[in-house]
Amino acid sequence: MTNHCCEAMIRRVNVPCDQHNDPFACPDALIKFSAKFQEYGLIIHDGGTSSITIDFCPWCGRRLPESQRDRWFDELERRGIDPGEDEVPAEFQDDRWLAALSRD
Ligand SMILES: [Zn+2]
Ligand SMILES: [Zn+2]
Repeated sequence: MTNHCCEAMIRRVNVPCDQHNDPFACPDALIKFSAKFQEYGLIIHDGGTSSITIDFCPWCGRRLPESQRDRWFDELERRGIDPGEDEVPAEFQDDRWLAALSRD
């Protein structure tokens, strides 16, 4: 479970909505948080799944965690997994892979 920078961010990342499972379909959802990459994005509500990655929190102004996207691919490669072809292990679908690394 990732710690977000402030209450506002926590509320925006977890918009409680019983009408939309997909944040891209929910007009109340503003922020898309990718746990596996540790990336925050502003959702572009154009009917697709586009978002703009942001480096700072719009509410508290703090710098957001560095993207782990490159490391994610590096770690999979180290295990001989090609995310384009092979099945990606469950811990790599969210932030559990980072927790596993910090235990080493
Ligand atoms: Zn909704
Ligand atoms: Zn914040």
